[in-house]
Amino acid sequence: MNFISSALSSNSSAARPNGNYAEIQDRCRECAEIILENIRNDQRAEDAEKTLYRDRLGASETIRRFPMPTLKRDAPYIWVTWITKLLVGKECCLWAAWFKSHYKDYAKAPSDFDALSWNIKHTVLLDTIATQYAHRFDRVQREHQNSFNYHGSSGAILSGKPDLIGITGNEMRICDAKTGQKQDEHWAQMMLYMYFYPRCFPQAFKDMNIVGELCYGDGTKQEVYMDEFDDTYRGQVMKVLQALSSTEPPPTVPSSTECGYCHITNVDCLDRLEAAPLSTQVELGEF
Ligand code: SF4
Repeated sequence: MNFISSALSSNSSAARPNGNYAEIQDRCRECAEIILENIRNDQRAEDAEKTLYRDRLGASETIRRFPMPTLKRDAPYIWVTWITKLLVGKECCLWAAWFKSHYKDYAKAPSDFDALSWNIKHTVLLDTIATQYAHRFDRVQREHQNSFNYHGSSGAILSGKPDLIGITGNEMRICDAKTGQKQDEHWAQMMLYMYFYPRCFPQAFKDMNIVGELCYGDGTKQEVYMDEFDDTYRGQVMKVLQALSSTEPPPTVPSSTECGYCHITNVDCLDRLEAAPLSTQVELGEF
C-alpha cells in the first residue's frame, strides 16, 4: 500500500515516456485508487470481524480466527530464560522451548501479566543496585551493554542479557535484579550467564575471577560461584540445548498447569489443554 501511495504522489519525470503520458498516468491513478479503496474495505471488514469475535468469543477465539504469521527462524535461537525452569525441573514441556527457538511472530495467548508494572519495579531496583556497583567497581556495564550471543557448533545461538556487570582488576561480578521471591530458576539463569558470557568475549574476560550475585527487592542477596557449574548441571544444560538445536521436535508434555502459563496458542500447539481435566473420584476408603 505504501508503494502505491508513493507512486500516486510521485511527480518524478525521470522515467516519463514520450507520447500520451498524462492519459496513461490518469488511468494508472484511477486503477491505483480502486485498488487502494478495495484494500481499505478489506481492512475495515477484517477489523469489524475481529471486534465481533473479541466481543462475543473472547481473545482466544480471535487469535484462532486471525492467527499471526508464524515464521521459521533461519537458525535456532534460544533465549536463556526459556530453559531455566526446564533445567531445575519446574517445567517439563521441552516442546514449548523448542517451538520458540525455531519459530517467531506466532500468535500469543492472552496474559494478565502486567509487563509495564514489572518493568518499572525492575528499573527502580536496578537503578539502586547500579548506584552501589558504581562505588564498588572501576567499570560497570548495564543491560544492553551485556547482551551476548553464544554460537554453538550446530548453528544454534544461545542469547542472554545480564542486568549488571561490575569489573575491577580481574574481579568480575555478574548481577541480576529480581523483583519477586527467590526461585531455583534464578540460580540456573545466573549459572548460564557465568558460563557462557565470558566465553563470548574470551579476549576481554579470560582468567577473570567470576562471581554471580542475585539481588532481590527485599534487599537480600545470593552469591553464585563458578564451581557450582558441575558436570551434572553442565550435562543437563547441554542435553537441553542439543534438544532445542535439533530439527526434530521433542514430544509435547501437556498439563493444565504448564499449558495454563504457556503463551503458545492451540493454533500452533495442537495438544494445548485449555481447561483442567475433571478429576476421577474413586471411593476405596483408603484415606
Ligand atoms: S500449550 Fe502445553 S503442551 Fe503446548 S507447548 Fe505449551 S505447555 Fe506444551
